Amino acid sequence: MSAPTVLTRAAVYLRDGGCVVCGTVRHLTFQHRARVGAGGDTRRPIPEEGLTACAIHNERFESDLQQAALAFGWKIRDWAEGQAFLVPVFHMPTRTWFRLSASERIVTTPTVAQDLMIDVYGDDWLEWKAEADRIFPPIEGRRYSWAR
Ligand SMILES: [Zn+2]
Repeated sequence: MSAPTVLTRAAVYLRDGGCVVCGTVRHLTFQHRARVGAGGDTRRPIPEEGLTACAIHNERFESDLQQAALAFGWKIRDWAEGQAFLVPVFHMPTRTWFRLSASERIVTTPTVAQDLMIDVYGDDWLEWKAEADRIFPPIEGRRYSWAR
């Protein structure tokens, strides 16, 4: 997949309002949710396939935050490519789950988000979620608390 168009990048920045992890509006990057293939695929991403992340978090999605990025929909597994709208995104600054469209974020409950994730990824998602909870501990009584 190649770089987004200027319009897609602008729409994604406007939709997200800052880094999806830390909320900063500085050093923002267009985060490809799906892995960018090495050559061949020249298709440009649609807004649902992108997220706003700061340079630091974008890089960490490829290192120590890999599993958390999958658990929170910041990254999408290769085989789920094309299912960008089905994979919800967790917005850490507001501790809210969203589904993404081209121009807006649609608030989703943690229960619906969990069901969507398990539909797409099965039990793998529960493992990623356990790792994500270790890195980003849930806050009791907030939306982040999971329905069991
Ligand atoms: Zn960040």
